[in-house]
Amino acid sequence: MDNKFDFQEDKIVNELNNRKTKLALLQLPEGLKKEAIRLVNYFENNTNSEIIVSGETCWGGCDLALDEAKNLGVDLLIHYGHAPFMKKVDFEVLYIEIEDKTSIKNLLEMSIKHLKEFKKIGLVCSVQHMHQLEETKKFFENLGKEVIIPKKKGYAYYDGHVVGCEYNSLKLISKDVDAFLVIGNQFHSLGAALSVKNSIYLLDTYNNEVIEMSKLRDKVVKQRFAAIESLKNEKKIGIIVGMKPGQKFGSFKVIKKKFENAGKEVIVITMREMSNDKLINFYDIKAFVELACPRIAVEDHDKYEKTIVTFKEALVAIGDMKWEDLLENGFL
Ligand code: SF4
Repeated sequence: MDNKFDFQEDKIVNELNNRKTKLALLQLPEGLKKEAIRLVNYFENNTNSEIIVSGETCWGGCDLALDEAKNLGVDLLIHYGHAPFMKKVDFEVLYIEIEDKTSIKNLLEMSIKHLKEFKKIGLVCSVQHMHQLEETKKFFENLGKEVIIPKKKGYAYYDGHVVGCEYNSLKLISKDVDAFLVIGNQFHSLGAALSVKNSIYLLDTYNNEVIEMSKLRDKVVKQRFAAIESLKNEKKIGIIVGMKPGQKFGSFKVIKKKFENAGKEVIVITMREMSNDKLINFYDIKAFVELACPRIAVEDHDKYEKTIVTFKEALVAIGDMKWEDLLENGFL
């Protein structure tokens, strides 16, 4: 059993019993699918519910298994690991956020030397660490610093909460703070570093280290520049429309028309989960704009042989936005 996370088994048992659920679909993030047998046994032994596990990938609250749930005719979708993301969902979903129980005391001590020159710190975290925000705020206030937790905005569900695809809550306070501290993992802190110009520090609870993000940010910015230049030079472009319910970032109609007006051949392609193999099959298309999760183009850059850019980056390639706008206002 994974002792790092709180799976709230008894909360789910109560929900299943109170709702008199007959059949539920259980959705777990990739790293927690190893808990599936234990959880299903626990729920089935303590309720009258039958539980089916979704074997499809699950990367975020954007990635609800609604089609599977409807196809199976279940009464309830249990979605583990993320806060609600989509504004409207036409299905019963029970979101179970998982607290990371690892103490951050040691990491906070380690971070003092990194943050000593900053007087005002913006503080955010991924959903697993929401319960550690106040402790962290007090820790730095006791050291004489001002700590600001930004109000929720965009897809953030709580004040101080960040998801990987937009950082509008950080942008709100970026001029009021000297640096941001992100509790969580590299995914969220890199996103922050690509969104605001402040120094970004990660309290990395997975590797027990404090990391300043500018080196990785600079490397990724160079990759993004090269990807945009590469797309500009291609005659044939594929626009990938994501089929996951919450992953709709940008209009294919807008981009298609703009590229066609620039004399390019364009096709629009649907994909539920992108992969290198799927793109290779479109053998005469060397560059794609993806309108699914914007982190696929950024994070999975090295996994793909072909060029992939985000909606915003496509606007730069077409001349509707300047490269400097991305640097100034953020890639996400
Ligand atoms: S970063 Fe991507 S996977 Fe995560 S919530 Fe946003 S769209 Fe979903």
